[in-house]
Amino acid sequence: MALIVQKYGGTSVANPERIRNVARRVARYKAMGHQVVVVVSAMSGETNRLIALAKEIMPDPDPRELDVMLSTGEQVTIGMTALALSELGIKAKSYTGAQVRILTDDAHTKARILDIDQHNLKKDLDDGYVCVVAGFQGVDANGNITTLGRGGSDTTGVALAAALGADECQIYTDVDGVYTTDPRVVPEARRLEKITFEEMLELASQGSKVLQIRSVEFAGKYKVKLRVLSSFEEEGDGTLITFEENEGNMEDPIISGIAFNRDEAKVTVAGVPDKPGIAYQILGPVADANIDVDMIIQNVGADGTTDFTFTVHKNEMNKALSILRDKVQGHIQAREISGDDKIAKVSVVGVGMRSHVGIASQMFRTLAEEGINIQMISTSEIKIAVVIEEKYMELAVRVLHKAFALDDA
Ligand code: ADP
Ligand code: ASP
Ligand code: MG
Repeated sequence: MALIVQKYGGTSVANPERIRNVARRVARYKAMGHQVVVVVSAMSGETNRLIALAKEIMPDPDPRELDVMLSTGEQVTIGMTALALSELGIKAKSYTGAQVRILTDDAHTKARILDIDQHNLKKDLDDGYVCVVAGFQGVDANGNITTLGRGGSDTTGVALAAALGADECQIYTDVDGVYTTDPRVVPEARRLEKITFEEMLELASQGSKVLQIRSVEFAGKYKVKLRVLSSFEEEGDGTLITFEENEGNMEDPIISGIAFNRDEAKVTVAGVPDKPGIAYQILGPVADANIDVDMIIQNVGADGTTDFTFTVHKNEMNKALSILRDKVQGHIQAREISGDDKIAKVSVVGVGMRSHVGIASQMFRTLAEEGINIQMISTSEIKIAVVIEEKYMELAVRVLHKAFALDDA
């Protein structure tokens, strides 16, 4: 007997028939003698619909109230899933995040899980129930409903698996595993049988939406056995996220995958005096406003001034611009503050990069041959990321996928 956490994403619970399908799979696992915790997302499109509704009332919705609205999407699907299980004669009980007590911090719309009370779930599991838990939501220390950021049900699934000491966490979605890149953009993409945790972390952080980054962080920290599978197929091993790396086999690909992200925007502070403390004076107020900064570059001009550029989430570009214009520009005597949200980031990822040189130059050459200009570059031991004009993103991903021999033969 094993304890298994199964997470089903929005397309997998998009209508009653698919929810019945989820229930049938859960029933099969129960019949094998396993204990099962099910985590569900809202029906696909529902979270977007709720955000749009909130914006009709208030263009920049108050985050506490937005979370109250967003959490309803998952509340519907837990009830439906528990009903579908009951219809199959399986004892099931639904739980909202607050009912489990998934305790989070109070950063509404992007809260982090601090603690999970596994007491009630354990008792129900021991009594033969399937526990159906709402993904994406929790509650802060004061009882306010919080949500975990887009794609956050993955994190609920993995965090529950960690808290319960589950034998495996299965993420069921609309593709049958993790691919070399998004198969919707590059039809030639290949499914990976396995991928290292470190690579998955990098792909997720660079924008591969198949797993939310925090779910991968949890899996790494608590060594959760994590697998991505299709909810539309009966069989298949999906992709296992492994903790061991292969012994640098010559046959192994150097690049494992390509990620892309159109969610970032570029903010440039031009013509600032090139002197100590400037980076802090620019980024300090941005961090104080709880805005995450990703890439950063600083160019040195010949006249003793410098241009400072960084990227933030598109949704936060205007907030970052107004903070800089109101609180920073006059103070540091910057010539101009500007934003550009027509950018995209494309990243190649692979642990094989550690032992190979020339990956960056191959990447840059491939992009140059297509006339694609690189605006920013950032590297880590296993990743090279570039910012380019958004309209070239899909082209860039396709040519790089081919250049690094990832295309399905
Ligand atoms: P869910 O609603 O099940 O959480 P998501 O839409 O969040 O599903 O994630 C699955 C989607 O992730 C796929 O449909 C695919 O378009 C996209 N995706 C992006 N990168 C990859 C990748 N490397 N491998 C597989 N899918 C990917
Ligand atoms: N429903 C949430 C979203 O659409 C959470 C999730 O699907 O993981 O982002
Ligand atoms: Mg998702």
